[in-house]
Parts: sequence; structure tokens; C-alpha cells
Amino acid sequence: EQDVNEYRKSLAIRVSGFVVPKPLKTFDDCGFSTQIMSAIRKQGYEKPTSIQCQALPVVLSGRDIIGIAKTGSGKTAAFVLPMIVHIMDQPELQKEEGPIGVICAPTRELAHQIFLEAKKFAKSYGIRVSAVYGGMSKLEQIKELKAGCEIVVATPGRLIDMLKLKAFTMTRATYLVLDEADRMFDLGFEPQIRSIVGQIRPDRQTLLFSATMPRKVEKLAREILTDPIRVTVGEVG
Ligand code: ADP
Ligand code: MG
Repeated sequence: EQDVNEYRKSLAIRVSGFVVPKPLKTFDDCGFSTQIMSAIRKQGYEKPTSIQCQALPVVLSGRDIIGIAKTGSGKTAAFVLPMIVHIMDQPELQKEEGPIGVICAPTRELAHQIFLEAKKFAKSYGIRVSAVYGGMSKLEQIKELKAGCEIVVATPGRLIDMLKLKAFTMTRATYLVLDEADRMFDLGFEPQIRSIVGQIRPDRQTLLFSATMPRKVEKLAREILTDPIRVTVGEVG
């Protein structure tokens, strides 16, 4: 226990919540498949970043998480890698339609970055990733969504549009990521986020990442996460 605390301290990590798993030291400790391990190596990731050391075991155990860390700390892989594992764990993957993983990000640029990262890891499994944000015509987007996918990366506004147009349903969604939650609130997406969350089954796994935790975001987290573990890296305002 002392060792674990020392190790967390060395990573500048603080945690709270019930029964927090030990932070891991290497990607080998994650129990990832050889495909995921080779994709990680291809990325040139030698060892997990601080947030990944503590977030990966939490998320892989199926728990909800509040991850607070500044930009550039490697949050994307912390939710993308367990998402691939979560999807591959679903029985009869091919039978139903609609995304299993839903990721919301504040801007088209950020959503696009996540889309690219998710594709790198999803590819070798034949997991399909759809991007849902401005830039593509709505008609094209509807067509793509209707063709089916396991992961949707979206800005909240466009995701709502697609749901209204019945381009897809979220009945199969069990893994929800709200990335850069503080920025989504800054951009006025709170109502859209609440609407999206309300349309995903309550027994989902929910992950909320943010660089800061203003009171409004804290309130949302309390409402939509179940028994979350909070992982904070470094000094965060
Ligand atoms: P954040 O979402 O916290 O701002 P990103 O997920 O965008 O950070 O990652 C920032 C950069 O660090 C990206 O270029 C990403 O490829 C890289 N990165 C992520 N994890 C690792 C790792 N374990 N080792 C080395 N680089 C990494
Ligand atoms: Mg990010």
C-alpha cells in the first residue's frame, strides 16, 4: 500500500473513490491482445503516461471515471484502448446495429483527432468508426451511419441532428466518453450532452475527461456517473 502511494506520487497522481485499482507500470500489465500491443508499439508508445497508468486499470475494470489532466497528457489512449477491449467483449458483435462506443468532443478538430486515434486501434479488429461532425454533408453522414459502425466520434450538436434524423440508434451503446467536458460546457453544449446521455441505457460505462472541473461539470458528473473513481494528474485548477 505504501509502495502504491509512493508510485502514485511519482506519477503526480491523486485518486479518490472506493476500491481504486493499483496503477500499472507498463502496457504489458493491461492484458491487451497482441493486436492492440502491436498497434501501441507502432504508435511508438513505450510506456503509459501518468493518466494512462491509473485510468487504464480503472476503465478496464468496467468502472466509471472522472479523469482530470491537462492537454497533452495522453487522455485519448486512456479511453480508446479500453473501448476496443469493451467492444470485443460484446457477445454476438455482428448481430445488432448501432454504435457500442459513443465519444463526444467539443470541436470538429478534436473529434477528428480522436477519430484518427480510434481508427488506428480499431482497424485490425474490423471495428468500424464513424465521424459525426460538421464538414461532411448530412446526407453522406446518414448513409455512413446507416451502413453501421461500432464507434461514433461526434460533436454534440451533430450527434443530436443525426439522432433526430434517425440515422442510427443508441440502443446498443454501453460505453460513453465525454472528452474535454469543460470545453463542451464553455461552448454551450450542456443541453445536448444531457439529451445524449439521457438516450443511452443507464447501465452503460461512463467516462468523463476534463482539464478543469468547474462546478457545472462537477454537478453533471455527480448526476450521470455511477460510483466513479476520480483520477487527477498534476496541478489542475
Ligand atoms: P490529451 O487528450 O490528454 O490532450 P492526447 O491523447 O491527445 O492528449 O495525447 C497527446 C500526445 O501524446 C499525442 O500525440 C499522443 O499520440 C501522445 N501519446 C499518448 N500516449 C502516449 C504514450 N503512452 N507514450 C508516448 N506518447 C503518447
Ligand atoms: Mg484530448
